[in-house]
Amino acid sequence: MIDRYAVVGHPIAHSKSPAIHSQYAKQTKQQLEYSAIDIEPGNFINDVKTFFDNNGFGLNVTVPYKEEAFNLADQLSPRAQSAGAVNTLKLMADGSIFGDNTDGGGLVKDITVNASQSMQNKRILILGAGGASKGVLLPILEQQPEQIVIANRTAEKAIALAQKFDQKVTGIGLNDLGKIEQPFDIIINATSASLSGQQIDLPTSLLSKECFCYDMMYANELTVFLKWAELHGAKTMDGLGMLVEQAALSFELWREKSPATHIVLEQLRAQLA
Ligand code: NDP
Repeated sequence: MIDRYAVVGHPIAHSKSPAIHSQYAKQTKQQLEYSAIDIEPGNFINDVKTFFDNNGFGLNVTVPYKEEAFNLADQLSPRAQSAGAVNTLKLMADGSIFGDNTDGGGLVKDITVNASQSMQNKRILILGAGGASKGVLLPILEQQPEQIVIANRTAEKAIALAQKFDQKVTGIGLNDLGKIEQPFDIIINATSASLSGQQIDLPTSLLSKECFCYDMMYANELTVFLKWAELHGAKTMDGLGMLVEQAALSFELWREKSPATHIVLEQLRAQLA
C-alpha cells in the first residue's frame, strides 16, 4: 500500500498543498499519495485517527484545526509549543504523533533566503497578533533581530503576546505606531486585512530607506499593504513563498528529503498570474 499524506481543514477545496507536495514527491522520487481532506466541525480527532490507522504517515493542518492538532499531538516541537498551534503532524515509529509548526520557518526561509534579507540586528515590525503572528515569533527571534514590535488593532492582544517572549519584543496598538520614532528595516503584515482588501492606516515614518515589506497573504496582484509600501519606495514580497517553504519543511520532516522549492514557487506564481 502506498504511503498516504494529506492536508486537512474546512473548507479545503482550494488548497494548493496537494499540487505542491505532488511536485516535491516527484522531484525527490518518493512513492506517496497526497490528498486534501475536508473535515466537518466536531470530527477532527476521529478523522485524524482513522487517517493514521489507514496507512497515513503525515498531515498538514490548516484553518480551523491548528489548535486541535496542537492538543492531539503526543509530542511537540519547540516552535509548535511557542505557536500554540500545529500545522504538521507526523506518525512516529512507536505509533505516537509528533506535532510541529513550519509556518514560521517557512516565512524566515522566504525572507532570508529567497529575498536575501537578513533579519540579524534588524528592527522588525509585525502587524497583527493573531495565529499567524504568534506562529512566526520564535523562528524570527532565532534570527537575532535587534527588536520586534508587534502592532495590533486590539492593542491588548499585541501586549499580551509580546509578554510571552523576551524583552526584545514589545506590543502596541496600531493607533500608536505614529509615536515610534525609529523606522523599521522589515515590516511583516500578518493581519487578515489584506484578505478583504482593507487598507491599514500606517504612518510612512515607519519605513526605513531600505525597508523590506512582506505580506503573508498572496494574490495575483499586489495586496493593498504592498501597494502602499511600493508607493513609498519599499521593497515588497507576498506570502506565496512562505506557503511553498512551509510545505517543504513539512515534507522534510516526513521524508527526510529536501525538495527544490524555487521550481514549485515559479510554477505557482505563473498559475496565479
Ligand atoms: P487571525 O484571524 O488569527 O488574526 C487576524 C489578525 O488580523 C488579528 O490580529 C486582527 O486584529 C487583524 N485584523 C483583521 N482585520 C483587520 C483590519 N481591518 N485592520 C487591522 N487589523 C486587522 O488570522 P491569522 O493570523 O491566522 O492569519 C493572518 C493572515 O496571514 C491571513 O491573511 C492569512 O491568509 C495569512 N497566512 C499566510 C500563510 C502563508 O503560508 N502565506 C500562513 C498563515 C497565515 P484584532 O486582533 O484586532 O482582531
